[in-house]
Amino acid sequence: MKKICVLGSTGSIGTQTLEVVEAFPNELKVEAISGHKNIDLLEKQINLFNPKICAVMDREKGLQLANRITGSTKILFGLEGLIEAAVSSDVDMVVIAVSGMIGLIPTIEAIKNHKTIALANKETLVAAGELIMPMIQHKPLTILPVDSEHSAIFQSLQGNPLDSIRKILLTASGGPFRDKDAFAIQQATLSDVLKHPNWVMGQKITVDSATLMNKGLEAIEAKWLFNLQPDQIEVVVHPQSIIHSGIVYQDGSVIAQMGYPDMKLPIQYALFYPNRMANTSPSLNLFDLGQLTFERPRTDLFPCLSLAFEAMKIGKSMPVVLNRANEIYVDQFIKGHIGFAEIPSKIEAIMDRHSVINLDSVEVVQEVAIWTERSIAQW
Ligand code: NDP
Ligand code: MG
Repeated sequence: MKKICVLGSTGSIGTQTLEVVEAFPNELKVEAISGHKNIDLLEKQINLFNPKICAVMDREKGLQLANRITGSTKILFGLEGLIEAAVSSDVDMVVIAVSGMIGLIPTIEAIKNHKTIALANKETLVAAGELIMPMIQHKPLTILPVDSEHSAIFQSLQGNPLDSIRKILLTASGGPFRDKDAFAIQQATLSDVLKHPNWVMGQKITVDSATLMNKGLEAIEAKWLFNLQPDQIEVVVHPQSIIHSGIVYQDGSVIAQMGYPDMKLPIQYALFYPNRMANTSPSLNLFDLGQLTFERPRTDLFPCLSLAFEAMKIGKSMPVVLNRANEIYVDQFIKGHIGFAEIPSKIEAIMDRHSVINLDSVEVVQEVAIWTERSIAQW
């Protein structure tokens, strides 16, 4: 029985992870869960899975939850609570399904405590891949990717060494504005942005998918996971989201992974790696699909993609600035404080003002994130 901790169990990835657990009651046990504020759902999850630990980021909400529950589940609070859940001695695998840079410290602490990580959260590697990858250099399978593109690349890599990769094909749906013009993008409202054509996800990543920042963050994530140079990462817009990404090998042969868009597949692959467990997912029907199409990304209309590649090439502290500025401006857009088209220009302006420094420690990563917050506040 594999014992798992799900950080961010109330979110899109978190709830789908728990659905996978429910489908395999003899193989998986939920040992710990966590949320930020959604204590109603946490209470339901406690009643259903009876975890030993439930960590609530918001202390007041956590106290309310502690007063509500009657069973033996221990309620913990704040970032320390998330860390304690992740490093708990009974846990074998930690699913990092929180959104944003908050995933960084729990991931690092879990690695230090020899846990296997199923990593959905992409902001962690974007900000601190330079620190995290050396930690697992002798045990690369410590981090198993959950993000569908990285899972696809990982699945396509099985049996081959990293240096047999010529380049990767990182597929993108193109988001809701793929075939729109600059005027429509300029006018985009939150409800237009949240209409993703193929995936139902949390709000932040859905906005990132519309700006194509999501693909930029994924490119940086792929650089770290698969030890790639920026020019080995080719973004391919594939509106049907059936090919989830692939590898062009040194001999020109391409191996890619296909399937209907359903995050439960990459989640299940990570939870059971290297085994493929039988489930009730439908088989891909190529006759129904008829055709798969491919386009180049329109970086003129979606500058976030170019900004992410620029940050990746500059490296060091620049991806931290890109990531934190994006988190803040996406939040401001969701709250109605700035327009959709302002997101890239504001991120670029902060990147322009940043003097790059080396990332020697997690503290430096946090200082750069704070520098970004302050620069934006003083704008
Ligand atoms: P959601 O917004 O749906 O869920 C986020 C989860 O994190 C919730 O459990 C939320 O708690 C918790 N959370 C949010 N902020 C904090 C905080 N400050 N401290 C502690 N916990 C917090 O996000 P998704 O599930 O969509 O995405 C999670 C991660 O996975 C992201 O990094 C995303 O990029 C990545 N990802 C997501 C995919 C998807 O299909 N959704 C696909 C590939 C990657 P609460 O609900 O209580 O607020
Ligand atoms: Mg993805």
